Amino acid sequence: MGSEAVDEDGPFLELADSVPVMLWRINSTFDCDWANKAWFEFTGGTLPQQTGFAWLDLVHPDDSDRVVEAFGRAFEAREKVSVEFRIRRVDGRYRWVLDSGSPYFRDGLFAGFIGSCVDITERKEAEQRTEALAAEMVRLSRAEALSSLATAIVHDLAQPLQAIGAYAEGVAEILANRGPSSEEAIAGVNEIREAAARAAGIVRNCRSLAAGRKSERVRADVAAVLRGAEPWIRSHPDAAGVSIDWNLASGLEAELSPLEIEQLLINLASNALEAMRGMPGAELRIAAARWGGLAIVSVADTGRGVPPDMRKIIFRSLVTTKPKGMGIGLYVCHAIATAHGGRIWVEAGAEGGAVFKFTLPLTP
Ligand code: ADP
Repeated sequence: MGSEAVDEDGPFLELADSVPVMLWRINSTFDCDWANKAWFEFTGGTLPQQTGFAWLDLVHPDDSDRVVEAFGRAFEAREKVSVEFRIRRVDGRYRWVLDSGSPYFRDGLFAGFIGSCVDITERKEAEQRTEALAAEMVRLSRAEALSSLATAIVHDLAQPLQAIGAYAEGVAEILANRGPSSEEAIAGVNEIREAAARAAGIVRNCRSLAAGRKSERVRADVAAVLRGAEPWIRSHPDAAGVSIDWNLASGLEAELSPLEIEQLLINLASNALEAMRGMPGAELRIAAARWGGLAIVSVADTGRGVPPDMRKIIFRSLVTTKPKGMGIGLYVCHAIATAHGGRIWVEAGAEGGAVFKFTLPLTP
């Protein structure tokens, strides 16, 4: 297939058809009225099929608005134009091209645009790889900073937590000797003790995790372990006014780390409560049921839900949509569920909220 010139002579055509660059011409009414051999070889088709605006059909739908706008503006202003976009090649694949055009004049009158089109797919792909690499480096440096932070927390927090626990124990004993009037104070101090013990346990677990050791497993009743998270969920700042429903099947026994499973549920419930913040009629439903040889635990909310394209990536570290979020909670949930031989995922709720589910293998 050769170029189909309207009014050019032989030597010009020979030259235009032998250059390895696509060349085109648009007349003064914006119709394409000529292109060279390279163009037709690249796009397939012939001039009669590609006159007028037909070439725009070959432009990638995501790029076409940009292309029309850039060419339209240049055409109006009779100015040079240069645009990068994707265009469909004869094999059906989209290729990136750099298309540059300049106005041309005949007898001093504007006659249209003449331009060239170069395939720049390799360069574009190299650029995209470099961008992805740069993003990965930023992610890694954030991950590294976070890991130093976690190490510092784990290292420096253990000792004061132990001290808080020990002091609280001592004070509770002193108060106990002063008789019944101290009951409220004793209860308060005991809560401090419990919180400190829990925090110390989390720090110990982080240490084990960092050292690659498995946390300690015990045979436990899944419902009882999940119930252990109740006071923490109830006292969450966003829990006020939320209706919380528990539906836990009995008789589900698994080998697990109670602290970690409790933590997993607290993380899911905290996210759910945050997602429903300020919404009227907020409901949190926590359920556990038998599913063959597995326990399946679900945490359903009536919040804004998780869009389908986000459902897999939110379990990766550092993925967050919250201005002050760290994107660590679900990553930890995923690590805990898989370390227990289970799975974790998120679905859309019947009423539009999110339903997070995880499984735990039951002891035979
Ligand atoms: P963070 O809470 O710090 O953002 P997470 O790993 O816990 O980190 O959560 C990651 C992201 O997952 C959140 O930023 C949010 O966009 C989304 N997400 C988690 N839970 C829910 C939920 N119940 N409803 C809607 N989106 C959620």
